[in-house]
Amino acid sequence: NLQDKLEGAFKVLKGQGSITEINVAETMKEIRKALLDADVNYKTAKTFTDEVKQKALGQNVLTTVSPGQLLTKIMNDELTALMGGSVEELNIKASPTVILIAGLNGAGKTTFTGKLALFLKSQKGKKPLLVAGDVYRPAAIDQLEVLAGQVGAEVYTNRESTNPVAIALEGIAHGKKNGNNVIIIDTAGRLTLDDALMDEIAEVKKATQPQEILFVVDAMTGQDAVNTAKVFNDRLDFTGVVLTKLDGDTRGGAALSIKSVVNKPIKFVGTGEKMDALDVFYPDRMASRILGMGDVISLVERAQQQFDEKEAAALQKKIRKNKFDFNDFLSQIQQIKKMGNIKDLMGMIPGVGKMMKNIDIDDNAFKGIESIIQSMSPFERENPDSINQSRRNRIAKGSGNDIAEVNKLIKQFEDMRKMMKQFSDPSAMAKMQKMMK
Ligand code: GDP
Ligand code: MG
Repeated sequence: NLQDKLEGAFKVLKGQGSITEINVAETMKEIRKALLDADVNYKTAKTFTDEVKQKALGQNVLTTVSPGQLLTKIMNDELTALMGGSVEELNIKASPTVILIAGLNGAGKTTFTGKLALFLKSQKGKKPLLVAGDVYRPAAIDQLEVLAGQVGAEVYTNRESTNPVAIALEGIAHGKKNGNNVIIIDTAGRLTLDDALMDEIAEVKKATQPQEILFVVDAMTGQDAVNTAKVFNDRLDFTGVVLTKLDGDTRGGAALSIKSVVNKPIKFVGTGEKMDALDVFYPDRMASRILGMGDVISLVERAQQQFDEKEAAALQKKIRKNKFDFNDFLSQIQQIKKMGNIKDLMGMIPGVGKMMKNIDIDDNAFKGIESIIQSMSPFERENPDSINQSRRNRIAKGSGNDIAEVNKLIKQFEDMRKMMKQFSDPSAMAKMQKMMK
């Protein structure tokens, strides 16, 4: 499944120090496949992976987290942005606001009409009226009446008429008289796209001048959903999309494709047959769903965190006992080097990282530091206080460094140790962390 595929894709990157042209290309290929499986159309998937790749390579230098984690974040951000970035509110300021519902048969229009009424009723001062505009199926009128009853909304029907434009206008007139400030017009669909349907709904649009035209589409129809969206948008220039039936195991890739093909915001998602199974569309949540990697993200984060916490706890214990030695120092440096840029890493080691902020070490400086520490004997590393002048001379010679460099490092180490000791008191730590936020 998709999850496995993405995990496979990330495995390629696991354990690699940086994102390179080669490993990112391999991963992107896997991700593109996964996106196609999730109903994202080819062009969108290709554009997306190309952009992510570009960004990933660009960020190479600043990487502090694992490449997989960085890539996950870039992908999530990019997907979120592609789907509009933020929540798109319904435009319901006008009184009355007319909302026209359009889409194919079975997409979930009538169901959504009921759901929307319930959603609006929960907003202050909104009094929706449902208009039964599906003149071809008497059962559709019954269905709307039942749903209206369930959600406690008013409904306008005219079983005598077969003219959807007339019914829509009657409905609006009725709503105005009746004090309804949002009028939702349910319409008829067709089994497939045809011109007569398009003409009809275009006429209803022209006559009613709706503030919102919501195109309802079944997320399970995958690629067809995209084509349908395009045809409806070309004709109606709708204002938003409602993606239904996301409660199934569909990945919702249609959301990404539709947005990128028609460039209209997705405003709601339907997640079940019940009237309260409606969600406002959150691009970031859909991004996680499409990638199916909510789990992957938390996995990576948990692994990272566990590592940090264990390491930090052990370290803090040592610091408190003033036992922080050159071995710890060396392993910290090696840790930092393994993970990437030092400045960005500061926040990652709780407590310690923040203290090290004050100590200016650049990546190149590590080489000298490492060579000095490596020239220390195990005894010296564990007992920094033992390193007297003659030992310093020997270390300088052995590591090929100037004695001044050795003195500088030991001084830095001692300063750091002092500072750590000072802040290892838990209440002082809490204060510090508050200050740094
Ligand atoms: P319409 O022809 O576009 O008006 O579609 P309907 O509103 O009559 O819905 C068609 C079928 O899809 C009905 O059985 C609904 O209960 C079902 N349906 C609509 N929205 C959802 C949804 O979000 N999830 C699920 N599982 N079923 C839905
Ligand atoms: Mg219907």
